[in-house]
Amino acid sequence: MAKKTYTSALNNPVFRTISKASKNLNLESYAIGGYVRDFLLKRGEAKDIDIVAVGSGIELAQEVSRLLPGKPKVSVFKTYGTAMLKSGGIELEFVGARKESYSEESRNPAVENGTLEDDQNRRDFTINALALSLNDENYGELLDPFNGVEDLQKKIIRTPLDPDVTYSDDPLRMLRAIRFATQLDFIIEKDSLDAITRNAKRIKIISKERIVDELNKILLADVPSKGFALLHKTGLLPFILPELVALQGIDEKEGQTHKDNFWHTLEVVDNISKTTDDLWLRWAALLHDIGKAPTKKFDKKLGWTFHAHEFVGAKMVYKLFKRLKMPLNEKMKFVQKMVLMSSRPIVLASEVTDSAVRRLIFDAGENVDDLMTLCEADITTKNPKKFKKYHANFQLVRDKIVEVEERDHIRNFQPPVTGEEIMETFNLKPSREIGIIKDAIKEAILEGEIPNEYNAARDFMLKKGKEIGLEVIK
Ligand code: ATP
Ligand code: MG
Repeated sequence: MAKKTYTSALNNPVFRTISKASKNLNLESYAIGGYVRDFLLKRGEAKDIDIVAVGSGIELAQEVSRLLPGKPKVSVFKTYGTAMLKSGGIELEFVGARKESYSEESRNPAVENGTLEDDQNRRDFTINALALSLNDENYGELLDPFNGVEDLQKKIIRTPLDPDVTYSDDPLRMLRAIRFATQLDFIIEKDSLDAITRNAKRIKIISKERIVDELNKILLADVPSKGFALLHKTGLLPFILPELVALQGIDEKEGQTHKDNFWHTLEVVDNISKTTDDLWLRWAALLHDIGKAPTKKFDKKLGWTFHAHEFVGAKMVYKLFKRLKMPLNEKMKFVQKMVLMSSRPIVLASEVTDSAVRRLIFDAGENVDDLMTLCEADITTKNPKKFKKYHANFQLVRDKIVEVEERDHIRNFQPPVTGEEIMETFNLKPSREIGIIKDAIKEAILEGEIPNEYNAARDFMLKKGKEIGLEVIK
């Protein structure tokens, strides 16, 4: 095949510097992997560039730094034989070309120095093994031993070596295959897909953190359902998110069925991905129905029910985050809150009263818009009339939220009368009564008995105090 040269991929002046540094050290170097792939796919500006040196990657990084203005700091990762430096907002990662051999138990291979070809062989996919020469004699030449460019054109994910070997050596690659297929909208070649299916259980040796990294990338793709459908098809999903697998299937009793909540969930995730890039809101969409599997019951009168599934689901969110070593911080709480409240606006949609809207805003607080976004994404009916009607109803709820919030300011609710004022007025020490009065004021505002204003709230406080036998001291 004719040799191809892509010097336009190497416009960044740093490539000439790397070339010079390589010459100084008398070694060969190449830009490789994601950077080359994304250049050929015209996938926008790169944030990181991988450089492979036939020799010491660490020494090359140090020499590059020496030649660069300001001599940027080199971070060395001795155990991996890699080094990193930042230049002009881009992260450059240097590694020595290597040859790897794996054992059964771990994804950490025995490593030896190797040639460029050895290094390309150990790459996960043909489209990730593309290298551009940074050497004077063939600067910019593409080295593509596995026809990766053809696979880019055909939109195929394929491994350089026997896929059973590639996936078994490092099972993380199974998730990477699915992640790239989802992100790039590529097809995983059949032999690869079969090999993933055969090797699925080896995913157990991969750390939770790495699994979650890939899940997050799948969730952030344009159409995340592609990835989850592949995880399901290959049998990886039970090892990762069994809660979702449990949603799959349709039961029938006495002629009554319920929808398949797994495929429904994937539709909801795709829907929400059209309106938000927020990873955690997308997680909320993915998990919003997980409580339905453990709560499913058939009732002769009611048919299929999922009583309190939102509550059960919110509890499951915590366990799932913990198992996957995900953050147990405000992100997890946000997802829990969305799952817990995921049915609230639906009830409203049939009859929108001011007080119900005030309660919704009060309970959802600053997340009320996210909650509405989730509920709208939850509309997956295939009946166009219903689809239109439900969306129109939610628009009414949204309008009402704006109207009520403008008037009543419930979103960041601050009690219009403070606990201190209640104490002073009735000469109280910290006590139950203060809570009772505060709560009564809040309830009166949410019910619309009084407006959310100081004077009205103070009058109400005096009345309530009297009712429970308190005396005003002033
Ligand atoms: P992105 O940065 O968009 O995730 P990428 O292809 O650059 O995509 P990285 O994880 O940055 O992915 O890895 C850089 C390169 O290292 C890849 O292109 C691939 O050649 C190689 N690589 C990464 N992980 C593996 C792996 N688990 N097995 C084999 N090769 C890998
Ligand atoms: Mg990368």
